[in-house]
Amino acid sequence: MTKKARKRGVVPAEIKIGPINYKICRTDGIRDGNIFDGLQIYEEAKILLKDNLDENVERITLIHEILHAIFDNVSLSNTGKNHQLIGLLATTLYGLILDNPELVKYLQKK
Ligand SMILES: [Zn+2]
Repeated sequence: MTKKARKRGVVPAEIKIGPINYKICRTDGIRDGNIFDGLQIYEEAKILLKDNLDENVERITLIHEILHAIFDNVSLSNTGKNHQLIGLLATTLYGLILDNPELVKYLQKK
């Protein structure tokens, strides 16, 4: 592991969201002619993350795509107001996790 990767942390190769194991793949941020920072593909159980994002942007993007997967898992729309909700939740949850490490430890206790 490089020094940069150690400092920044490593994105898990796979994340279980509900009953589905999603593969996390780094890409150039282009698919079918569309440009993205992150993309969740329900049919392929994949989350694509663009390379070289700012580390905070990358984490918010990952949470955003996880929320897309959660919405898809229960057949909720991912557009319009729901997409705004996903954006709000991704940023807010990331801030909550960052600002409250004791809460995260508490939630992880079994
Ligand atoms: Zn989105």
